[in-house]
Amino acid sequence: MSLFDNLEKLSNASGVVGREEEVRNLMVKLLEPHADKVYIDKLENVIAVKKNKNKTPKVMLAAHMDEIGLMVKTVNKEGFIQFAKMGGIDDRLLLAQKVIVQSSKGPVHGIVGSKPPHIQKEEERKKIVTYDELFIDIGAESKEDVTKMGVRVGDPIVFDEKFVSIGKDLVIGKAFDNRIGCAIMIETLKLLKDTDCNVFAVGTVQEEVGLRGATTAAFGVDPDVGLALDVTVAGDVPGVREFDSSVKMGKGPALSVTDAGLITHPKVLRILLDTAEENKIAYQLETGLMGTTDAARISLARQGVPCGTLSVPARYIHSPIGMINLRDAEASAKLTAATVLNMRKVF
Ligand SMILES: [Zn+2]
Repeated sequence: MSLFDNLEKLSNASGVVGREEEVRNLMVKLLEPHADKVYIDKLENVIAVKKNKNKTPKVMLAAHMDEIGLMVKTVNKEGFIQFAKMGGIDDRLLLAQKVIVQSSKGPVHGIVGSKPPHIQKEEERKKIVTYDELFIDIGAESKEDVTKMGVRVGDPIVFDEKFVSIGKDLVIGKAFDNRIGCAIMIETLKLLKDTDCNVFAVGTVQEEVGLRGATTAAFGVDPDVGLALDVTVAGDVPGVREFDSSVKMGKGPALSVTDAGLITHPKVLRILLDTAEENKIAYQLETGLMGTTDAARISLARQGVPCGTLSVPARYIHSPIGMINLRDAEASAKLTAATVLNMRKVF
């Protein structure tokens, strides 16, 4: 299956932080044809192994499977749900979103509502409605009604957005952070098919709440070198200063030099740059980002692991829907596969 098909399936699958089961099952299915072995560890990261015949460095690839979402917190007596946020979500983007509560009895559809603007006071209308003032309306009439529908405290809630192709290479959908990384990781294994290398491709859990799955997976895998595959903010929209983000969609994967959690190991950065030049793959360099990726934790595993990050520029990340250019994803897979093979020159 193509990267496009895989991304469509992965984007439409659900996997709110800590409740990654649906997307993990899909990952196992998509990784299996390209790996010697696929297993699931105790925190439920999925790990696809490609074993080598000769002595080559053990490379860990990491792409997080979890997505930002919500969770049922309380239900009031009129049957409205209040929620907790799972991962960093801008409150301004929540109002009027369609959502799906994943209840024990199956999906329950609803919308995020607030007090109607018509009856808000002048000052009220000017301020941002924070998430604790919002609620989810599933059309229930009472708390008992909600219980009967199978909804209870702790149920995950996903944004109800479907994958759409909107142009030659452009697609929009939910959870591109980081299902695009997952799709690239599968594509990388596909490209490495008959080559001799030692790769552990890990679909990690709970990245959005503090890189938790990557922490334990890196300890278990004990790699010689690590690469995180993720997304980064595309700054090519109105109102963004070049200084704040110079990365653009369609100009190739972004190679991070520093972010809030990782200073890319100089040897890893060198290999990435040389490999990109060698294979004439366009790339963009970025530095000083506020966020970080799984690579930050992998780099601190055991006695330390040289790490780097390849990111696909994405618009509107950490919102219910985003946009990416598939050409960046394809280039990212090509660069990742070629870099894995070049690792033996240095590590
Ligand atoms: Zn991410």
